[in-house]
Amino acid sequence: MEFLQPSTWQEALAARAEFPDAVPVAGGTDVMVEINFDRRRPGALLDLTRITELREWSRESDADGARVRLGSGVSYTRLIAELGDELPGLAMASRTVGSPQIRNRGTVGGNLGAGSPAGDSHPPLLATDAVVEVASAARGTRFIPIIEFYLGVKKTALAEDELIAAILLTPASGPQQFCKIGTRNAMVIAVSAFGFALHPARRSVGTGIGSAAPTPRRAHEAETFLAGELEAAGLWDSRGPLPESLTREFGSRVSDAAAPIDDVRGSAAYRRRSLAVMAHRAANWAWNDYRKAA
Ligand SMILES: Cc1cc2nc3c(=O)[nH]c(=O)nc-3n(C[C@H](O)[C@H](O)[C@H](O)COP(=O)(O)OP(=O)(O)OC[C@H]3O[C@@H](n4cnc5c(N)ncnc54)[C@H](O)[C@@H]3O)c2cc1C
Repeated sequence: MEFLQPSTWQEALAARAEFPDAVPVAGGTDVMVEINFDRRRPGALLDLTRITELREWSRESDADGARVRLGSGVSYTRLIAELGDELPGLAMASRTVGSPQIRNRGTVGGNLGAGSPAGDSHPPLLATDAVVEVASAARGTRFIPIIEFYLGVKKTALAEDELIAAILLTPASGPQQFCKIGTRNAMVIAVSAFGFALHPARRSVGTGIGSAAPTPRRAHEAETFLAGELEAAGLWDSRGPLPESLTREFGSRVSDAAAPIDDVRGSAAYRRRSLAVMAHRAANWAWNDYRKAA
C-alpha cells in the first residue's frame, strides 16, 4: 500500500487527482478501523495531517455577514474548547463523539467524508445551514450547501478528485441544542439524534435528523410550522412560554420527516418515537435559554 504524504494543500489536490483510488486520511478514526477489519484495502493512503491550514479555523466576514471557517482537519477536542460559544450545537454534538482519544484525532471533515447517516456532526450542520468548501486541482474551489451534500447511505456530493477544505458556519444568533440516543452514555453510535437551532435574527428555526433516514436530513415542514406559530403568537418579541401543545406538535412533525429502518441498534418505531421526544425537549430547552437571555 502506497503512503502519500503531501505537505501543502496544492500537493494534496495534485495527489488526489493523480491517485483517484488513494483514500484521504484526516484523524484516521474511521479509515483505520475499516482497514483493520479488512473492510477496505485501498491501493494508497493520502495523509492530510501535514497540511497546516486544514487544522486551523478563523473568523471571517463579508457582505453576507460573519462566519467561522472551520478547517476540515480541526479536531473535535479543539472545536469544543475553542468554538463552544460560536457553534454551540456543533460543540454539543462533538462532546458526544467517541472518547477523549477519538475526539483528539477525529474531525468534522472526516465525519463528512465518511457520510454515515449516524455521524454526530450532521444534525447541527443541517440545523445551522453550514456550507462545505471543497476543492480539486482541475476545477478549483466550490461551495456545497449542507442540504445538498448528503446523497445516500455513505454517499456524498464530493467528486472523486475533490477534498474537503473547510466548513463555513454562521456564528449562533440564538440557542442551539443537540440530543442523541444510544445504548449507553458514551462511546456509542447514535440510535437516533436531533439538532435544533433557534435563529432569532431571521426568525426561523433549524433542524437536523441523524440516524433515522438513509441520509442526515432536515425536518423542513416542522421548521416552517414552529417558526410560523412563534411569529403568529408574537413569541419572538414577547419571549413568552411555549405552549406544551406546540412543542408536542413540533416533535410529531419532526418524527414524520424521518424515514428510519429497523436494524441492530433500534427499531424504526423506536427511532420515530425518540425523535418526537428529542425534538419536543430540544425546542423547550432552547426556548427557555432564549427567554433567559432577554
Ligand atoms: C471508537 C470509536 C468511536 C466513535 N464514536 C463516534 C461517535 O460517537 N460519533 C460519530 O459521529 N463518529 C464516531 N466515530 C467515527 C469517527 O470517529 C468520526 O466519523 C470522525 O469524525 C472521523 O473523523 P476522522 O478525521 O478520524 O476521519 P478519517 O477516518 O480520517 O476519514 C473518514 C472519511 O473521510 C474521508 N476524509 C477525511 N478527510 C477528508 C478530506 N479533507 N476530504 C475528503 N475526504 C476526507 C476519508 O477518506 C474517510 O472516507 C467513532 C469511531 C471510533 C473508532
